[in-house]
Amino acid sequence: MSKILENKTALITGASRGIGKGIASKFAEQGANIAFTYLSSEDKAKALETELNTQGIKAKGYKSDAAKLDQAESLINSVLEDFEGLDIIVNNAGITRDNLLMRMSEEQWDEVMEVNLKSIFNVTKAVQRHFLKQRAGSIINITSIVGVQGNAGQSNYAASKAGIIGFTKSIAKELGSRNIRCNAIAPGFIETEMTADLDEKVLEQWAKIIPLKRPGSTDDVANLAVFLGSDMSNYITGQVISVCGGMLS
Ligand code: NAP
Repeated sequence: MSKILENKTALITGASRGIGKGIASKFAEQGANIAFTYLSSEDKAKALETELNTQGIKAKGYKSDAAKLDQAESLINSVLEDFEGLDIIVNNAGITRDNLLMRMSEEQWDEVMEVNLKSIFNVTKAVQRHFLKQRAGSIINITSIVGVQGNAGQSNYAASKAGIIGFTKSIAKELGSRNIRCNAIAPGFIETEMTADLDEKVLEQWAKIIPLKRPGSTDDVANLAVFLGSDMSNYITGQVISVCGGMLS
């Protein structure tokens, strides 16, 4: 059977763990070459690079802070040198620094904005010239249902994720005439290290309000990313698609 991402190269930010790692694995399964970034999980990144390279595709991990524009620029230059092309960007790197507004520090606000939102500007801006030249490209931004509906104790995170939605829709309008697509995935509650520390009671509450009665897996998100990265979604841009077990409807 043919693989739907054959002959494509993808760059995924923050793929040493969690959803990013899940997307890297699914993309590789579907024949894509994989460039990915990490910040601190060096051993996990090396292990992923080795694992992906056994699958008959080319994979390479880059240590790169998504919050820094200069690092995003040198990242894109390195990926274009190391790989034959670049077709898909998955802006996935993200963090939480949860707190009630009353206790939230300026640092917690700024850190979340820079890693979650500015990172998307950084990587998209850095890759824009290449995508314009080849008159093709698919950009997939990972937002959250929290960016649509808000969440007490996560005003910084929700604001950063809502910002991603505005950016996604604007870039879709700005670059659509050059066949560059930009969509966002809004996961609900997905089991990763980001959600692993949540209190048992919070988890029970989540399970109650999810119509499909289970948390999502990284594969659930990765399957949609494969579709949005592939030519099967060639007429889809500017959309925010939820992967949330029906929580947001
Ligand atoms: P995770 O398990 O905590 O993994 C986060 C990843 O981002 C790691 O690979 C980490 O790399 C990387 N990262 C963090 N800061 C970075 C930076 N400054 N530069 C480059 N990479 C950085 O998180 P996750 O649950 O997989 O979440 C992935 C994305 O999905 C995030 O954008 C998150 O907001 C979104 N999301 C998650 C859920 C959920 O329920 N899990 C729901 C909605 C949306 P290192 O380990 O190397 O630092």
